[in-house]
Amino acid sequence: MPNTKKTKQRLEARITELMQTAREIDAELKETPDPDFAEHAVEAEGDEVLEGLGQAALSEGNQIKAAVQRIDGGTYGKCTTCGAPVGEARLDAVPHAAQCMDCLES
Ligand SMILES: [Zn+2]
Repeated sequence: MPNTKKTKQRLEARITELMQTAREIDAELKETPDPDFAEHAVEAEGDEVLEGLGQAALSEGNQIKAAVQRIDGGTYGKCTTCGAPVGEARLDAVPHAAQCMDCLES
């Protein structure tokens, strides 16, 4: 397995980043809105966007955690569905890719 150590470091750094983002968003959402704030509706809309971003960060973080587990288990780079190599180009683009293009599209 070439370079999995480096990949693992990269993935773990990304997890830290994503968890930080999710925490910041969470803190932002918990701020009590000013009841006199005239643009209350606008703020509520912004909260929804933030919530979506937070969930996206968490879900990406979980996918990356699974990829780190595959590195530890020695199955990193193999499609979790068919077992074929995911492909270097794809791993370059999406280091936590769990499936080969064939399985992704089907
Ligand atoms: Zn596959």
